[in-house]
Amino acid sequence: MRLLHRIMSLALLATPLLLRAQSPPACPVIAIDSAGMMRDVFRLADDSMRGRRVGTPEGTQARDFIATRFDALGLDRVPPGRVQPFTTTRRGGAAITGFNVVGTVTGTRFPDQYMVISAHFDHIGAVGPGAQCRASGADSICNGADDNASGTAGLLAMAALFIRAKPQHTLVFVAFDAEESGDVGSSAWVASAPIPLHQVLIDVNMDMVGRNVKNQLFAAGPTKYPQLRPLAEATIGCAKITVTIGHDGPGAPGGNDDWTNQSDQAAFHAAGIPFVYFGEEDHPDYHRATDHADRLMPAFYAAAVRAVGDFIRRFDQAPVPRR
Ligand SMILES: [Zn+2]
Repeated sequence: MRLLHRIMSLALLATPLLLRAQSPPACPVIAIDSAGMMRDVFRLADDSMRGRRVGTPEGTQARDFIATRFDALGLDRVPPGRVQPFTTTRRGGAAITGFNVVGTVTGTRFPDQYMVISAHFDHIGAVGPGAQCRASGADSICNGADDNASGTAGLLAMAALFIRAKPQHTLVFVAFDAEESGDVGSSAWVASAPIPLHQVLIDVNMDMVGRNVKNQLFAAGPTKYPQLRPLAEATIGCAKITVTIGHDGPGAPGGNDDWTNQSDQAAFHAAGIPFVYFGEEDHPDYHRATDHADRLMPAFYAAAVRAVGDFIRRFDQAPVPRR
């Protein structure tokens, strides 16, 4: 009994030391309003938004929702302003105008070095002439809750986070339009960027971050930009879901399906700017009328956006060279 007591006492004494030796470095708290983020998804993916197709009144409504939020958060503007128009052509030839929504938080130490944080807010609209949307039974609106109301609401959450805890580098939050037309909004923005592209250190893009049955999120990019890998791995170590570097080149998990050119990070990559694209693999509701807000997985979603915030903060505090 005494001996046992003695062993237990020693064990108790040793426990904190052992824990200290074995624990990974402390993980930062990424404070986001996850319930508010879900509300934003429901709003953006509501039937009244009719799938937020570029060039439609509902696309404009979504644009204004984001612009109003950027204003309310107090994000700064860069020329030509909060809403940055571009022109594109629909299949069939008619010219349409799209709008990217842009807001910045000026860096406290490196104001003229930029990190672009992005997500597209457009989707494929409703069933109609020339539309990609296919009906599911009587449901004729492709709501795009996961694709990409999830990333858009995540972008708003990131803006709210970094307006409270100021970054060292200037963060440029961009909600891109016309991604579903072939990354048109992001290509137009990069082609006539309102900030010097050679001072853009990275694009962190979110597209489909709201649900995954395997609780798995991919971080694409570090296989092409290996200097990003240590930061991504630190984020992976702190994430509450599985985050996997992949879908970004030969040899990487999912490497046969390279996502580099499948969302808005493509325009940045083409300009030689490193990127990390956070997104999950396709699900049965992808690009269907059934991509509904109530099919998101709120706990997964919150953990995914926190991981994105963790990565942004790590990069902000320890940026790595572009090459
Ligand atoms: Zn998308």
